[in-house]
Amino acid sequence: MFEEKIDLPTAKKRIDIPTMVKIIEVKQETNQVKTFTLDISLHAQPGQFVNIWIPGLDEKPFSIAEDNGKTLKITFFAVGQFTNHLFNYKKGDKIGIRGPYGTYYRFLPHSTLALLAGGYGAAPMYFLAQKASQMNCTIHFIVGAKTKEHLLYLELIQNLPNTFLHIATDDGSKGHKGYNTELLEKILKTHIIHKVFACGPEKMLYRTHQICMQHKITGQLSIERYMKCGFGVCGQCVLDNTGDRVCLEGPVMTTEQLNQIQEFGLYHRDKEGLKHFF
Ligand SMILES: Cc1cc2nc3c(=O)[nH]c(=O)nc-3n(C[C@H](O)[C@H](O)[C@H](O)COP(=O)(O)OP(=O)(O)OC[C@H]3O[C@@H](n4cnc5c(N)ncnc54)[C@H](O)[C@@H]3O)c2cc1C
Repeated sequence: MFEEKIDLPTAKKRIDIPTMVKIIEVKQETNQVKTFTLDISLHAQPGQFVNIWIPGLDEKPFSIAEDNGKTLKITFFAVGQFTNHLFNYKKGDKIGIRGPYGTYYRFLPHSTLALLAGGYGAAPMYFLAQKASQMNCTIHFIVGAKTKEHLLYLELIQNLPNTFLHIATDDGSKGHKGYNTELLEKILKTHIIHKVFACGPEKMLYRTHQICMQHKITGQLSIERYMKCGFGVCGQCVLDNTGDRVCLEGPVMTTEQLNQIQEFGLYHRDKEGLKHFF
């Protein structure tokens, strides 16, 4: 039986005061998505996040898309004020960063893993797949997007050893027509999977959780809530009704933990604490 917990090396350092770092590479992934390579390593683990600061504007959390011990990557969608501003940053510009924060994905070497990614979830999932393939795991990487134009990281995933790529698009423009969770169900019927990992929209996570329960398989899912401090002090990202803070007890949570969380799959709160139903 594969155990739930295995400790990867913990973060060697954590920066709590924003440090200005240079953007050393900008990659345009799609017309709405960019990846920045930053001139810093925080020795972070897959699943953890950083807070990115634009002086005079705001600070927002972003999943770590890679930390190779020298540089760190983030991948983001231009959806609102902060991310549209960030989208205009060029190679050589500086942004503030602090972290790494939060929990991270845990797995055993030599295990067979299913990784589900929706939206920018492909970025942290790729980071996890990199580490897992280095530890001789077999990986079923299941990406989902609205259309083929929205699929991220495909080339990088395809080049990972011991990794099988499965694609789902809502409109069927590439791969399976439908949700990536449908592909997960198919894979679970034909393969032995030891653990399921997911990062993406909450509806996708909720369905993934249901499938894990039905198949009596454990999983680790990364959830997202509006957050501020990043280290458990401000209480902005507290979950009903366990009181878990997504920034500290999350963002990566086990399927067992999520069983206890009343708001999971149902609603999230905005910065005023008002509920928004999914
Ligand atoms: C732990 C954690 C990790 C995160 N990692 C990432 C990441 O790796 N990449 C990334 O792009 N964002 C990530 N986010 C979200 C990010 O922090 C911002 O909230 C988001 O980018 C929007 O910020 P904004 O100010 O530009 O837009 P806002 O003004 O806050 O939002 C504008 C509109 O876009 C909607 N919206 C917000 N976020 C998204 C989204 N991701 N996709 C589609 N619509 C959205 C909002 O509901 C709103 O209607 C993460 C959040 C958390 C809590």
